Amino acid sequence: MGFYVKKFGGTSVGDLEKIKNVAAQVYAAHKAGDRLVVVVSAMSGETDNLVAMAQQLSKNPDPREYDVLLATGEQVTIALLSIALMELGCPARSYTGAQVRIVTDNVHNKARIVKIDQEKIKQDLDAGKVVVIAGFQGIDEHGNITTLGRGGSDTTAVALAAALNVDECQIFTDVDGVYTADPKIVANARRMDYVTFEEMLELASLGAKVLQIRSVEFAGRYNVPLRVLSTFNPGPGTLISYEDVKMEHQKISGVAYNRDEARILIRGVPDQPGFAGKILGPISAANIEVDMIVQNIATDGLTDFTFTVHRRDFNNAMNIIAPLADSLNFREVLTDEKVAKLSLVGVGMRSHAGIASKMFQVLGAEGVNIQLITTSEIKVSVIIDEKYIELGVRTLHEAFGLDKESLK
Ligand code: ADP
Ligand code: ASP
Ligand code: MG
Repeated sequence: MGFYVKKFGGTSVGDLEKIKNVAAQVYAAHKAGDRLVVVVSAMSGETDNLVAMAQQLSKNPDPREYDVLLATGEQVTIALLSIALMELGCPARSYTGAQVRIVTDNVHNKARIVKIDQEKIKQDLDAGKVVVIAGFQGIDEHGNITTLGRGGSDTTAVALAAALNVDECQIFTDVDGVYTADPKIVANARRMDYVTFEEMLELASLGAKVLQIRSVEFAGRYNVPLRVLSTFNPGPGTLISYEDVKMEHQKISGVAYNRDEARILIRGVPDQPGFAGKILGPISAANIEVDMIVQNIATDGLTDFTFTVHRRDFNNAMNIIAPLADSLNFREVLTDEKVAKLSLVGVGMRSHAGIASKMFQVLGAEGVNIQLITTSEIKVSVIIDEKYIELGVRTLHEAFGLDKESLK
């Protein structure tokens, strides 16, 4: 008997048969005596359909209405799952984010959870019910519906797990754990039994969309035991936790990629204090997240300043930068909307020089040109042309022997 939050992603509830399958699994755990809060995503493809509809009506849909629209996907699945549970004889009750009162800030489309009311959930659990909650959505203090960013149901699940202090937060998806690389791209990628929060945070922020990055941040901050498992095949999955002496470590734990980057290069920037802040200040004020930032030493009083943003934010970022050319006195802006980021991650990297140089060599040997490089203690990332991304992921996975168990 335990207390769990179980989250089922879009492919796990993709049609009625799959919803019945989830209901059967949840009912089995309920009968075994578990206290269960179930979080579900919209049926697979549904959120994309809603996004496409809004975009057919407007290039820049109003953010508040966009959230009202996107939140409907999850409202469908909570109701369907609860109906399926009750049909099996399992007492269940569904809630939207607003009904629970998952309170968020008011940043539409990327809201952050600030508070969760637990009263209704606890009453229902005490009454022996399974509580089914819509992922990805909340409500701001003025009563507006908000959404948490794509993949946000993971964050709903972890936030609930932290608030309710459950034994484990279980993320059920279409793969049976966290792999050394996206198993859809690298056929011999290996499932890891354990990953540290630190590594998972890097993997998620570098593009491994198996967990939304904010869910990993949240789980790390509140020390929520987090496990990724398959909805379709039983198994132990991958446990994400703090580093433990028992955990074996490879130098490198995985390869991650993110296709959706765009690069903005500002040329001929006068070498004066404060320039970077004048460019990036308005960008962040518009809630655009900047990823890599690179600036070179100036020659002849001029320098270049490069950064990357999510491709979705590219137009907005350019609308902010273009009008600054006169006041900030830079020469030109060169952009590439079709770049991708390729990264190697591993806590063992700290103590191992040479990993970056080997990475650059093997990519070079495949003819993959590197445009930008950044490193941190536990990762090396490069920006490359999007068309080479799958080749890059496979090349690194192979070159660093990630399909094999640790040689230590
Ligand atoms: P869900 O709909 O259940 O939230 P997602 O599609 O958001 O599922 O995330 C699961 C997908 O993440 C997998 O199908 C896989 O293709 C992808 N993925 C990317 N990198 C990794 C990785 N390192 N390990 C496991 N899955 C990964
Ligand atoms: N349905 C939302 C999305 O597709 C949230 C989620 O699946 O986590 O992004
Ligand atoms: Mg997801």
